[in-house]
Amino acid sequence: MTDSAAIPPPFAAGGAELIDGRAMAAAIRGELRATVEKLSENGVRPGLAVALVGEDPASAVYVGGKIKACKEIGIRSIEARLSATTTTAQLIELIDDWNADDSVDGILVQLPLPKGIDTQAVVERIAPDKDVDGFGADNLGRLAQGKPRLVACTPFGVMEMLKRWGKLHNWTPAGKRAVVVGRSITVGRPMALLLLGADATVTICHSRTADLAGAVGQAEIVVAAAGQRHLIQGEWIAQGAVVIDVGIHRGDDGKLTGDVDFAAASQRARAITPVPGGVGPMTIAMLMANTVSACRQRRGLGPVTG
Ligand code: NDP
Repeated sequence: MTDSAAIPPPFAAGGAELIDGRAMAAAIRGELRATVEKLSENGVRPGLAVALVGEDPASAVYVGGKIKACKEIGIRSIEARLSATTTTAQLIELIDDWNADDSVDGILVQLPLPKGIDTQAVVERIAPDKDVDGFGADNLGRLAQGKPRLVACTPFGVMEMLKRWGKLHNWTPAGKRAVVVGRSITVGRPMALLLLGADATVTICHSRTADLAGAVGQAEIVVAAAGQRHLIQGEWIAQGAVVIDVGIHRGDDGKLTGDVDFAAASQRARAITPVPGGVGPMTIAMLMANTVSACRQRRGLGPVTG
């Protein structure tokens, strides 16, 4: 029997269609499991190595989710838990070992790293063909050139959501006005490059943007990745816009909310992602996709398709 309480309504109370990241991520994990099974018939098993440095509880939860997804899909996971007193040199030594290990296809160092570790040096040490977070200069540069290889998982997940939702509605980002709020290396910038690659007309907003409400009000696609709870007000949203909320904020009551005032925005948006259950699950699914892609690409088998 189906537990109807567990199935989210397809529409938010305000009227916007919900873009269900949980369901899409589950579908992607299923597709990847099939790909991994095929690889295993040829004696190949993708491997992901994850380093968790220090005691940050949120990071531990994220790493736990990634390891769990590896298990579900059949990816071999290697986990290194290191103390907060680890030095940059020690972490780089571990990355060098994983770079040299042919059974490791993807390397992920969970960020943020404890103070005192040179994050940039660590990220750049990861071999570009194993950089499954896509944060290194090589992969970001390829994306900027319009020739992506391994793309940062969160913006990659947002694009995949737009692609899958768009397919159902005969909708595409091509020719649409898109506003990305946030310009971080990990989310905002790659997000803007991906939308540009999909032929959207892209505006990037940040903390110095003079008229954020005006910019958002022009957008047919809004991607909110500012890290400010409810920064994007409902009345800013243009009628019929597609709204993707990347932000995650845990309130004092333990509840998660996003960068967008969901209740108000869903009265104007055509479609919107919830928090939780939107971009978050897609991020992990795309990490898995990148690991399988890295495995295939390193063996000359090409990226994951379909
Ligand atoms: P950062 O703090 O690195 O970047 C935030 C960006 O938002 C900056 O470019 C900043 O501008 C801009 N910004 C901040 N305040 C404002 C404002 N008032 N108006 C306009 N722009 C503003 O954050 P991340 O990119 O790492 O993450 C963004 C959010 O996404 C966070 O809530 C994070 O938790 C969440 N996240 C969610 C993930 C998921 O899986 N769902 C994964 C990764 C992140 P400036 O450059 O000028 O400082």
